Amino acid sequence: MPAANARSDCAAIIVAAGRGLRFGGDRPKQFIDLAGEAVLARAVDVFLGHPRVDRVLVVVNEADRDLAMASLGGRRPRLEPPVAGGATRQASVFAGLKALETAPPDVVLIHDAARPLCPPGVVDRVLDALGEADGAIPALPLTETIKRSADGCRIDATLPRSELFAAQTPQGFIYRIILEAHRRAAAEIRADFTDDASIAEWAGCEVRLVKGDPVNLKITTRHDLVIATRRLDGEMLDRAMTQTVPCTGFGYDVHALVEGKKLVLGGVSIEHSHGLEGHSDADVALHAVTDALFGALADGDIGMHFPPSDPQWRGAPSHIFLREAADRVRKRRGRIVHLDLTIVCEIPKIGPHREAIRAKIAEIIGAPKRTISVKATTTERLGFTGRKEGIAACAVATVLLPIEEIEETCV
Ligand code: MG
Repeated sequence: MPAANARSDCAAIIVAAGRGLRFGGDRPKQFIDLAGEAVLARAVDVFLGHPRVDRVLVVVNEADRDLAMASLGGRRPRLEPPVAGGATRQASVFAGLKALETAPPDVVLIHDAARPLCPPGVVDRVLDALGEADGAIPALPLTETIKRSADGCRIDATLPRSELFAAQTPQGFIYRIILEAHRRAAAEIRADFTDDASIAEWAGCEVRLVKGDPVNLKITTRHDLVIATRRLDGEMLDRAMTQTVPCTGFGYDVHALVEGKKLVLGGVSIEHSHGLEGHSDADVALHAVTDALFGALADGDIGMHFPPSDPQWRGAPSHIFLREAADRVRKRRGRIVHLDLTIVCEIPKIGPHREAIRAKIAEIIGAPKRTISVKATTTERLGFTGRKEGIAACAVATVLLPIEEIEETCV
């Protein structure tokens, strides 16, 4: 059995295929806005932002694919294309598990999209327990006395509360074990399981309980949505006011224009007579943005992380460099809140490509497009840019870093 340590390949499946319209309105609850982001997007971000999760797969109802794509716009790194779900939650999870089969992970976390506030510590506890069991789920002891009643009126029994726990998600499993359990359940036409632990238990696997968290609530009613919104508003205020520090980074780069080369600028291929010369694809705009992020982290520069002397970067697409810088921000538990890029050139005209470049950068770093600014200027025909010998780019990045990260850096 692969040990579920920090080096295990871990995939997260977010189940968002329900079509319940209990909230009223025109969309299932996972697409409802929660403090500025869809419930689904917040659930996905828990896992995209977790350093022990390598990739995230969302299972959606085919009818909601566009809604899902719109909710998740810009979150590309580590987010795989959505998979179509089935008629039940169980069928949807099975579809997600099968979609991972081409590149099977060691462990898989299965999470309900309706739980957008899962604290990262819950994910850690589930993964830690997987070193010793086939499966692990977060759970909470019950605080209320539980009555059993067949008709909903007459009490048949009072259950022993100390033995009862409420199951949460993410539920974690050794991938090949839970896939096999789902396969058996499907073969025996068992479709009545309400969570994945019960399928694993039915298949004879050992599933452990770890400490859940009341914050990890499941949004099922309007009231839950109000509670979640208040919590997020409070958290955002806390974070903005006291717990994070804005760090600014500056990046600057120049590459020469040469005739007959393909031009890639801001990750976008542009039809032009000249292209940029350099060791990689020489995307001067992405290099400036990458260096701005490294600058905000006080973590060296692009040449240090990707030395031109290293042959593996010859002709490399520069989104690799930018993605690494964005991942480093995430690993430091930081958040890119704004990027401002200025491209300095006489040719080509940037205006027609501005929106495509903004969208591309947003996609690469996994941030909303509205936080990416792309500007262009000429140098009034002065200097090397004025003589059309090259293109320059400068960028300023604003990154919020937890105050502990800054203090550690300062020591
Ligand atoms: Mg460069």
